Amino acid sequence: MSDDKKLYVYLDSNSTTELSQEVSGVIMDIVINNIHGNPSSSHGYGIRSRALVEASRHSLAKALGCLADEIYFTGGGTESNNLALRGLFNSNVDTGGELVISAAEHSSVYNTAHSITGGDFNLIPLLPDGNLDLDLADKVITEDTSLVSVMLANNETGVIFPVKEIVSLAHSKGALVHCDAVQAFGKIPIDIKSLGVDLLSISGHKAHALTGVGALYVRKGIKLHPILTGGKQESGVRPGTENYIGITSLGAVASEIVNDGINSSSGLRDAFEKALVKKIPDIFINGGKVARVFNTTSVTFKGIHASVLVDYLSERGIFVSAGSACSSNKPSPSRTLLAMGLSENDALSTIRFSFSKYSTPYDTSTAIDECIKVVSSLRE
Ligand code: PLP
Repeated sequence: MSDDKKLYVYLDSNSTTELSQEVSGVIMDIVINNIHGNPSSSHGYGIRSRALVEASRHSLAKALGCLADEIYFTGGGTESNNLALRGLFNSNVDTGGELVISAAEHSSVYNTAHSITGGDFNLIPLLPDGNLDLDLADKVITEDTSLVSVMLANNETGVIFPVKEIVSLAHSKGALVHCDAVQAFGKIPIDIKSLGVDLLSISGHKAHALTGVGALYVRKGIKLHPILTGGKQESGVRPGTENYIGITSLGAVASEIVNDGINSSSGLRDAFEKALVKKIPDIFINGGKVARVFNTTSVTFKGIHASVLVDYLSERGIFVSAGSACSSNKPSPSRTLLAMGLSENDALSTIRFSFSKYSTPYDTSTAIDECIKVVSSLRE
């Protein structure tokens, strides 16, 4: 355990993750050996950087179960989601068609949908258990729908959405499906061909790689308009010099997944939730009754302002986040939690604890002890 780990308990891995040892290793190698060179340059240094990019593309394709030339590297999850939605709508602008997204999408999908359509898009509602309402999805997705965007794992509750079922609904009505798999990559196995999605986004820093790198899978044959103008990098779909260091870090994570598999044991999280519910009155877990990724716990502490709880815990070295979006210092309730039927007050009393494969029983027991103290003093 590092000194830092003794001082701080980091349970905010859905915001960003620490680098894996493998990623640190490959980055150190690049730094120590001063590896540089524009992947588009034809000289030796360029060829060396290009080799790093293409090796990573192959590793990622293997980890996701697709072809290497179906992977486009981007600057992160937000950009991948923008490229998917805007890229498709820009290329299909003449054919029109409606856009459908789930009510739980991240702002990088929700706000993009807004921007593209001026607010004229449809939502697949959530059930109170946090899952998608598939009966209503069947009504919301129609023959007029051209694109459905649904996430694989929700960033706030960790609930795993039935993307395969959405794909068969959408495809039967002639719509394409984009999947935001940013919070699923590295936490559950992803097999793109068996999911059947047409586009899929991932992000490096949510999976122990560097920040500022992501990827978009685009099924062969789908035409995507670039959202940036510039050079011909990434087959012209994503102009700009490839971030070969970030891409290498993503390739290292993908290789780890291929070689070692994914440890998705939820034992630590489940024990944490059990202890929390037993020891603190008037709390409940959101999404706890359906399939979730191993690392996410969304807890509503009734009557307590989440932002105050987050600050108190932070002062005690426990780093978590509120289940709400914060804009201009005024917390607004999470769309996901409201869509599950939580009241505004309960949504604003919700904390997200998100673990990683590096979290330990020490982390969870420390967090539980501090939550007990802070919650009882706030309630007094
Ligand atoms: N999609 C989901 C589900 C996320 O949780 C996030 C980040 O929180 C993003 C997209 C955006 O990813 P990035 O931070 O790489 O832009």
